[in-house]
Amino acid sequence: LKQAQYRGRFAPSPSGPLHFGSLLTALGSYLQAKANHGLWFVRIEDIDKPREQFGAVDQILDALSAFGMSWDIDPNTSEDLAPADRGCLVQTRRLRRYQEILDTLHAHNLTYACHCSRKKIRQMGANYTGYCRNKNLPLTDAAIRICNDHVNATKTNSDFNHEDYIIKRRDGLFAYQLVVVIDDIDQGITEVVRGADILPLTTRQTSLYKLFGITPPNYMHLPLVSTKPGFKLSKQNHARAIDINNPKPELIQALTLLGLPVQQDLMLKSVADIITWAVAHWDIANLPDTTEIIISEQKTSF
Ligand code: GLU
Repeated sequence: LKQAQYRGRFAPSPSGPLHFGSLLTALGSYLQAKANHGLWFVRIEDIDKPREQFGAVDQILDALSAFGMSWDIDPNTSEDLAPADRGCLVQTRRLRRYQEILDTLHAHNLTYACHCSRKKIRQMGANYTGYCRNKNLPLTDAAIRICNDHVNATKTNSDFNHEDYIIKRRDGLFAYQLVVVIDDIDQGITEVVRGADILPLTTRQTSLYKLFGITPPNYMHLPLVSTKPGFKLSKQNHARAIDINNPKPELIQALTLLGLPVQQDLMLKSVADIITWAVAHWDIANLPDTTEIIISEQKTSF
């Protein structure tokens, strides 16, 4: 029996350069893929085009290279790639594919148009109750919702997972929710390694796999990096970019936090050798058993 090859990915949104928290996620997904002799893809999640920061795609890819993580090119999707994409799948080049899937879902009566305002939904309860589900409203100038398996107005997390969430916004943008699942399926991803902040969305995504009748990949959630409890490093709170001109200190700090048996002499090796060492010593059993790692400050010295 031929074992399917491990296929992993790192899927940054180009809303800014990589910060130390995203470095941890990138490293975790890279090391997990390479320790499993797998392929590792980088996918540019620019579906929310208005939030893209000019130049961020190149900054992110340059940072990954500087930190010794080189990505694989997927032979199955290479026809979608433009030279400027540097071997990465880019979501905004795949709008036709997303629309095709949306049309198929619609043909199977699995989607419907919703004209409710946010205010109206708030008035009806915390989660969307399927108000427009059987109204057969016109698809134009409407949000498109998925017919999920259960509708309930109360506030519990499981109801959040089961509500009829939006898969295409009224402004015409496809929801991240939908496209991430299509991309992971099309790229044959076997395991998704991502930040713990996406955990609530992961459960929504698995409900989409159910509708598609496809087995979801494995999921592994890495701890977030915070400067104090509840304050994760993020582009929103202006976490500073990792230093691509001096990658070793942050690389080694990140590996230490990921549970690798780092010794002082690692600093003497090249970035490429540090990464090779890390692949050989990667062990998910040593990952910290927490969803949040507090670092006293964003420091760079080892
Ligand atoms: N694009 C998402 C982000 O940058 C990550 C999505 C994922 O891992 O599925 O937060």
